[in-house]
Amino acid sequence: TDSVQVKEGKANIHLPEGAVFYNPAQVFNRDLSVACLRLVSKYHHANECKRIKKNDPNAACVSFDQLPIGVRQENGLKIAEALSATGLRSIRYAREIPGIDTIYANDIDAGAVESIKQNIELNDVKHLVQASHDDAMNLLYSHRKPDNQFHVVDLDPYGTPGHFLDGAVQCIKKNGVICITATDMASLCGNNPHSCYSKYGSIPLHEPFCHEFALRMILYALHLQAARYDRIIEPLLCMSIDFYVRLFVRISYGAAKAQSQLGDIATVYNCTYCSSFFFQRYGQASLDERGNAKFRYAHGPPVGTHCSHCESNLRVGGPIWLGPLFDPSFVNELITSIEQAPDDSYAYRDRMLSMLYVVKEELPDPLYFDNGKLARVMHTHIPQNKVIKSALLNAGYRVSTSHARQDSIKTNAPHHVIWDIMRAF
Ligand code: SAM
Repeated sequence: TDSVQVKEGKANIHLPEGAVFYNPAQVFNRDLSVACLRLVSKYHHANECKRIKKNDPNAACVSFDQLPIGVRQENGLKIAEALSATGLRSIRYAREIPGIDTIYANDIDAGAVESIKQNIELNDVKHLVQASHDDAMNLLYSHRKPDNQFHVVDLDPYGTPGHFLDGAVQCIKKNGVICITATDMASLCGNNPHSCYSKYGSIPLHEPFCHEFALRMILYALHLQAARYDRIIEPLLCMSIDFYVRLFVRISYGAAKAQSQLGDIATVYNCTYCSSFFFQRYGQASLDERGNAKFRYAHGPPVGTHCSHCESNLRVGGPIWLGPLFDPSFVNELITSIEQAPDDSYAYRDRMLSMLYVVKEELPDPLYFDNGKLARVMHTHIPQNKVIKSALLNAGYRVSTSHARQDSIKTNAPHHVIWDIMRAF
């Protein structure tokens, strides 16, 4: 039969024509995932070394940079790629990341699994990558026991990852990392509120900030799923990229801490005219001195029934996660590691770095404004972003862009300050 071969990263992939899914538009996603999982492997290796040295202070431990790539590492990372298609992603992980124990490249489709097997042969990674023909649900649910859980679960489905979140939080080891792709941006961005609600339990808002909102709804869904098993989400890097979102989230364990994450969940009130947004947290959740979860109910609505700036109606969206989307130290190390990687490591090296430089500067304050929309609403000229930003800075507030939208303004200034600045134009 006709077939094509593609080379991506250190993998050569054989594609039976038309048979399985290969999406060249996801090269950036895979480059970024290789870069992130290298760091995850590095952290894991450091912890393993600590553990070994605790048992035997004289034990030798090779530094991460000296670990050979493509050699199986006993007690290294166990990874599940639950929806693998051609095996490309798993093979790239095997050939580009040191410290791997085993990778399951799984797919439900028999033709896909054939291609995974061929590609494992072609790339000489049989000792690292294992083809698996199963429903992702079965793969995840059959690895719930602590002795066979995964350090990394990668979910890269067509459309929504919603169905797989429960399995993923159950089969992830303590401090393991769940990687999630979602391409169902139409429903996440509010074209289809009921479909978004049924997948994520959250109502989307069709607004300029919808891409960040999408990340925060998925984090809400993951948080809720994790909390059921006394697990906590710790976002390492959550990004909106082109037509999809990609999240890397560490999962740690602890009942009280998991309960206290409720303090990071809120309903959002959104002005139907000027796009202003207001958050209603459900309450204040914290840990007391003994480490027990404490909850204080929130009182009253955060706003009236109408927008305090333009008097228009408010609509309700969410719930969403209001906590951070990034771990600054993870982002810094990621940048350093990509900067120091050999030139030919990533096809999208420059684009990754330029996005990560924006992420590094991004404020943790949820959501953002779009000056074009504000100007239309106020019938003013559209001031340049840098003009608004310097006005905000001069007024003593912090400002940044969001990586999710070029013309965005993120700030910790209250809305009325922004309105005052806009009125001055
Ligand atoms: N991760 C791949 C990559 O980076 O090249 C692409 C994966 S593709 C977007 C989605 C794959 O999921 C398809 O090959 C499809 O057969 C598979 N799939 C869909 N539902 C599944 C399920 N319930 N269990 C396992 N695989 C499934």
